[in-house]
Amino acid sequence: MAQSSESQVFFFPYGGKRSFLGGLRTLFTTIAHVVAPGDAVAVKVHMGEYGCSTYLRPALVRRACDLIKAVGGKPFVTDTTTLYAARRFTATQYLATAAFNGFTRESLEAPVIIADGEEGYDGEWVSIPKQAYDCPLDRTKVAKEILNADSMIVLTHLKGHELSGFGGSIKNVAMGCVTKESKAGQHRANRAELDPSKCTGCGECVEACPFKALSIVDEKAVRDDEKCTGCNHCLSLCPEQAFYLPPGAKEKFQVYLAHSAAGVLSQFPDKVAFINFVQDITPDCDCAPPSGLPVVSDIGILASMDVVAVDKASLDLIAKAKPTEKYRHMVSSDILGGINGTDSLIQIRAAQELGLGQMAYQLSELK
Ligand code: SF4
Ligand code: SF4
Repeated sequence: MAQSSESQVFFFPYGGKRSFLGGLRTLFTTIAHVVAPGDAVAVKVHMGEYGCSTYLRPALVRRACDLIKAVGGKPFVTDTTTLYAARRFTATQYLATAAFNGFTRESLEAPVIIADGEEGYDGEWVSIPKQAYDCPLDRTKVAKEILNADSMIVLTHLKGHELSGFGGSIKNVAMGCVTKESKAGQHRANRAELDPSKCTGCGECVEACPFKALSIVDEKAVRDDEKCTGCNHCLSLCPEQAFYLPPGAKEKFQVYLAHSAAGVLSQFPDKVAFINFVQDITPDCDCAPPSGLPVVSDIGILASMDVVAVDKASLDLIAKAKPTEKYRHMVSSDILGGINGTDSLIQIRAAQELGLGQMAYQLSELK
């Protein structure tokens, strides 16, 4: 975490003569001190939903693993199961999807471990040191294998997100390092509501709900709030659009994200660093293929010890870039938030308020 008035963020821009592999090697030297010889190092990566084409390339992750090994660390590539029922709902499903997407022990020369176990509940509750903005979250359940690591390198594909405006390092840690209970705890902040007047009682949502929280009563869908995890699978599938997000849901969700990130990061004092890959900057996340056309051209790679600064610097670089044809009409300092109907900076401000880092940073360009 930052000690001075500005945090250091190191930036390797794309478009020069050096390849991204060389750039990553140079950037890694700025954060390599978080890895001590012999450390078991969690390399946190979203390995992409089935059908996604813009997740982080396995070659980048392989390079990161090689660099960690070169300083004596023992990397393992890791992520957690999803709350929604697609092709990463269990560890077995996730490993199959990861292999399909190119992430295997052979391709990475490092183990691929789903950190929250087969069903997604293996972990340990940790306290969230501080609360802000009236957020009730005071603990989060960190996935077991991540909690057991000595240090963590968070590799993040920065892109838009339909519920939080954008997904950067804060979100990668907050949602991606915890078990299903804590994913649900965060998603309850933006749980869809049901408008019975639109419901035709077709039953599609009842069939699809992965947590059996819906039933049909008197020809209308009814939800059991105790069983509902807030995964919002029903939100997107109802043919009548009977589910809707309540006002303020996206903003509240971002505050919850910051709190969960605070809990996870409290377990890695001075032992975690963040690398954002600002490329393939799609409006939607890697969970939702197709994720859409890029909003701006590829920008580069950023590295920092400060999760707040690295996300803020990434958004600032996007704000300075020229939007692609489809988004040219959007004049905004927060284009991803604008596309997704929220203010993306809320999660960054909340994370700063919680002491995770600072929005003031110094950007050092490495060539
Ligand atoms: S899918 Fe929509 S219309 Fe069908 S039962 Fe569920 S809420 Fe009602
Ligand atoms: S009711 Fe909807 S939000 Fe709740 S668990 Fe089922 S699919 Fe997910």
